[in-house]
Amino acid sequence: MAKVITVDVAKCNGCYTCQTVCKDEHVGNDWLPYAKAQPDIGQFWVKLEEHVGGSVPKVRSYYIPKFCNHCEKPACAAACGQSAIYKRGDGLVIIDPAKCTGCGDCLPACPYQSVYLNEDAAICQKCTGCAHLLDAGEKLPRCVEACPTDALGFGEKSDLQDDFITGATVLRPETGCYPQVFYRNIPGIFIAGAVFDPAVMEVIIGARVRATNGGKTWEVVTDDFGDFWFTDLAAGKYDVVIEAKGFAYKTFEKVDATADINLGDIPLSRA
Ligand code: SF4
Ligand code: SF4
Ligand code: SF4
Repeated sequence: MAKVITVDVAKCNGCYTCQTVCKDEHVGNDWLPYAKAQPDIGQFWVKLEEHVGGSVPKVRSYYIPKFCNHCEKPACAAACGQSAIYKRGDGLVIIDPAKCTGCGDCLPACPYQSVYLNEDAAICQKCTGCAHLLDAGEKLPRCVEACPTDALGFGEKSDLQDDFITGATVLRPETGCYPQVFYRNIPGIFIAGAVFDPAVMEVIIGARVRATNGGKTWEVVTDDFGDFWFTDLAAGKYDVVIEAKGFAYKTFEKVDATADINLGDIPLSRA
């Protein structure tokens, strides 16, 4: 048995219901033996990360809900000298509030910043996967059950393998923790712009735009509004060349696309 959480970023509308209901479930409530009450402020066992990229009018925003990844090889557990962190038979990683001394060694060990120190209770805390609800016979953790768009899912890893996990990604796989929260549809970087003829102040339709990085080239054509979009690019530096019949080439060298880029309204000089 191995339970996993799934997240379809394309379905998340940023409503914050998951964050809210997690607090409703855990703030002020002890769910022993898995967790003492979450404090009123300062902890987010699920945290919505908002991404806004580009610039007006080419702006995109999306949200990534982040949890403890209930890792296959939890670095938090390896760092705990009290053996207070353990993995349940169903895969959920738990900080035992009875054993935790609040020393904080697990905080920097977690590469996902999923652990919080509760100074008043002198313990470290994080998402429990709502183990108390599962033990009580519920099928889903509170946040998954409450998500109005079905962006969140939960279940047996083997059952979700074909429908979701194949083709999904995990956050920062290089950590070696083997995270068990699986994501789909995290957008890549975009480079966009609009091409126009300043002599007549009209957009140029059908201009060919090429983006090159590391020997690979992507090509798009400007649409009826003179717009072009490269979507889902990997972060990197791209050379962008715009070519339209009757106009001189326009080149942008080493466009730093570590975040979404709007190159703006681009005038082409007549050849
Ligand atoms: S409840 Fe669902 S749709 Fe709303 S923010 Fe969370 S994951 Fe996104
Ligand atoms: S995400 Fe961090 S806290 Fe959660 S199991 Fe992995 S290492 Fe531990
Ligand atoms: S699984 Fe439970 S504890 Fe974890 S974020 Fe969701 S509601 Fe909070």
